[in-house]
Amino acid sequence: MPELRWLIDASYFLAAVLFILGLKKMSSPVTARKGIVWAGMGMALATLVTFLTPGASTPFMPLDNLILIVLAIAIGGSIAWVSGKKVAMTDMPQMVAIYNGMGGGAAAGIAAVEFTRGHMDGLMLFTLATLGALIGSVSFSGSCVAFAKLQGLMHKAFRLPAQNAVNALLALATLGLGIAIVWLGASGSMIPGWLLIGFFLYALALGIIVTLPIGGADMPVVISLFNAFTGLAVGFEGYVMGNPALIIAGIVVGAAGTLLTQLMAKAMNRPILNILFQPISGEAQAGGSIEGTMKEVSALDAAAMMHYAGKVIIIPGYGMAVAGAQHKIWEMTEWLENAGVSVRFAIHPVAGRMPGHMNVLLAEAGVPYDKIFDLEEINSDFAKADVALVIGANDVVNPVARTDKTSPIYGMPILNADHASHVIVVKRGQGAGYSGIENALFYRDNCRMLYGSAQKVIADVIQNLKTLE
Ligand code: NDP
Repeated sequence: MPELRWLIDASYFLAAVLFILGLKKMSSPVTARKGIVWAGMGMALATLVTFLTPGASTPFMPLDNLILIVLAIAIGGSIAWVSGKKVAMTDMPQMVAIYNGMGGGAAAGIAAVEFTRGHMDGLMLFTLATLGALIGSVSFSGSCVAFAKLQGLMHKAFRLPAQNAVNALLALATLGLGIAIVWLGASGSMIPGWLLIGFFLYALALGIIVTLPIGGADMPVVISLFNAFTGLAVGFEGYVMGNPALIIAGIVVGAAGTLLTQLMAKAMNRPILNILFQPISGEAQAGGSIEGTMKEVSALDAAAMMHYAGKVIIIPGYGMAVAGAQHKIWEMTEWLENAGVSVRFAIHPVAGRMPGHMNVLLAEAGVPYDKIFDLEEINSDFAKADVALVIGANDVVNPVARTDKTSPIYGMPILNADHASHVIVVKRGQGAGYSGIENALFYRDNCRMLYGSAQKVIADVIQNLKTLE
């Protein structure tokens, strides 16, 4: 029924519109949930329509390998459903990494099938299929390494001797094999199996070798970069298969991933090339010469400092997410505001373990959006704040990022908590942040440590605030 082709194309177009509108809605916490649902509907529609599209000239015929396809969807869908329900908010980055890697692997898989089916012809198709295969394979194996590191299954950073030379050699060898595939394919010759296997193995090894040395604070940017890679690979393979929904979904993911990568690299003041080729280790110990001692404060004194303050700025970090303290923090904020204190939240772009991590948690607790400020909006206001309350944050307020050129976080813009008249830091003990280095802020004269798990500590502070009424 070729006359029904228009219906299939219209459905793909609708799916693409749903992807784009969904992504647009995801850009604000107010509409993000709806955005996920819209994009999900787009994906469901595209999948459904694919079942009706075995070939341009024979729509509505059963697909080949129908049982295998349904089986794959059932297995993949069940794993995603169960893991999506179970995953802790703090494990979300590795979840994103592995899902994203699967997308890259799927794009590479499509290319592998197309190479062996022998249906492709022309320089353009072979070039795009090969590029998609290369980028998808790198994204797949690199994302698997990122997952293993974030999940604690692997040592954080592992650097080969002459790492950059090894990277360059491997990249050149992979490109060489890729060019051979394009040349043979485009000229109508048979592509030998050993060439295809060698190309895919080299591309997979490239993803692993490039990702292995990357650790510490660079990992979020790398995950986002692989996300952009996956989008690009999917777009290329969509073109090869003549599937408009795949092309548009790939372009949207590729563009969003590229923008996010740039924003995060800028937020950490690390050029992307440095992240890939001059990685900082996750195991650095020193934070330069730090002077002073850590001074403890009680929940009562902390409550009094904030109760009698005019302006308080709260800086949440990864520890708030671990403790699930966001609801208590909002309760405390309401108490303080009822006592006439101005309370605002300062969010660092890489606070927590994924982009927007803190915004999502604060939104879940009901914190109004007009109380939440990005780094550049609020950083100059710390000098006018009476109290900066740091809750489970560490790297994002470490002043060595400004001063110590040997520090792995040197150059990363930080929230200026140390500029406030008083700083209160809530954390459980002497634990370091993600980058593994000491925090000079904790030793400053104006800083006091309030030890304990964030939820319990803030509950104590609220109890004490009640006694101050
Ligand atoms: P950090 O990882 O620097 O520090 C978190 C602090 O929370 C620790 O020092 C820990 O100290 C404390 N903590 C842990 N559990 C609790 C708890 N239950 N109650 C109270 N405190 C607790 O967090 P930041 O948010 O400041 O910085 C994020 C870091 O993660 C950056 O280095 C960033 O580059 C990196 N990263 C960011 C990603 C992103 O996309 N946002 C993704 C991956 C990494 P103690 O053990 O003493 O309690």
